[in-house]
Amino acid sequence: MGSKIVVNNYGSFDVTMVKGKGSTCWDTNGKKYIDFLAGIAVNCLGHNYKPLVKAVAKQAKKQIHVCNYFTSDIGVEYAEKLLKATGFEGVYFGNSGGEGNEALIKLARKYGHLNGGAKRHVIYTLESSFHGRTMATLTATGQAKFHPEYFAPYVEGFKTIKPNDWEAIKTAFDDTTAALIIECVQGEGGVNLIDPEWAKAAAKAARDAGAIVMADEVQTGFGRTGTLLASDELGFEPEAVSFAKGVAGGVPMGGILFRGKAAGVFVAGDHQSTFAGNPLACAAANVVLDELTKPGFMESVKEKGDYIRNTIKSWNNPNVKEIRGKGLMIGADIIEEKSAVELEKNLLTNGLLTSTAGQNTLRMVPPLNISYKEIDEGLKILKETLENF
Ligand SMILES: *Cc1c(COP(=O)(O)O)cnc(C)c1O
Repeated sequence: MGSKIVVNNYGSFDVTMVKGKGSTCWDTNGKKYIDFLAGIAVNCLGHNYKPLVKAVAKQAKKQIHVCNYFTSDIGVEYAEKLLKATGFEGVYFGNSGGEGNEALIKLARKYGHLNGGAKRHVIYTLESSFHGRTMATLTATGQAKFHPEYFAPYVEGFKTIKPNDWEAIKTAFDDTTAALIIECVQGEGGVNLIDPEWAKAAAKAARDAGAIVMADEVQTGFGRTGTLLASDELGFEPEAVSFAKGVAGGVPMGGILFRGKAAGVFVAGDHQSTFAGNPLACAAANVVLDELTKPGFMESVKEKGDYIRNTIKSWNNPNVKEIRGKGLMIGADIIEEKSAVELEKNLLTNGLLTSTAGQNTLRMVPPLNISYKEIDEGLKILKETLENF
């Protein structure tokens, strides 16, 4: 019903959600779902998480929005805490992943200009990557299916390189390269892992050519892969990182972190946004960061991810070809003859929320604090659905 009124750009299912608690949701018919989707890796603390609800309600009573003529107390408190936790020098707040990546792109362009003139403007991204839906981030996205004729012309100055291709990085970068942007684990592209050795070598090659290195952590950031940032574990030490999805537990927020050569590139007036640093979002993000940095939290994300992957593997179900991922970012490849979208639909019918990436990958990105009881309930639905698929 709802999908007939709200513009249907998503091919949404005919399910209208009303509420959630923990990693369980209910629709208008009172039907219950186990949540292995978390609003696409957004609701990292699940639904109706008391400290988050309380902090948002408290901030709403104080002040919902302050424009960026001023700073807000909660904005400053959060920014300081965030920089301390991540080891970056500065942060720019925006409102979505696309906007975070736009900020990365503008930063890369200005950095290139300052360090090689107009010709140093080329931005490399990885094949199969996904970076957003604005014109520039769509162009940056390394998948042909996102580039239909009818949106042309696209933005100039973007090139792609194949992830884990050692030959390509020997010659790709030169004095026209401004930046290399690495999506740490490709989410939309199929839950594809990047070889850390390759990421480090690619970053070195780009830096040797005078470029800076950036990470798109819109999906991987804020604990999704079992470390605060996935780039921490990949080890290529990006000068700037974009984030969004999980950062504020469901309240819209995004942005970038920067350091080293990327620090001091933007000056007043270069990049702004009206909603940026919104106190309501900062209050939510503040709670998320507190939870994520509690002792043992990241280990629990890794353990739960391993538990889900190992359990699915142990079934030896003939429909599942491969299972991979990192932390609670999980991809299961379904055999070619069958469709992951069909499986996703069957799971929805049976009460489990999931997602897909491409034709054959079922994607699971549950809340980071999902309970083992809910994991087992969800896995039971998955097992039975796979057995009858
Ligand atoms: C979701 C996503 C984006 C786009 O974020 P929006 O908030 O939808 O604009 C960009 N990059 C990656 C890696 C993503 O997963």
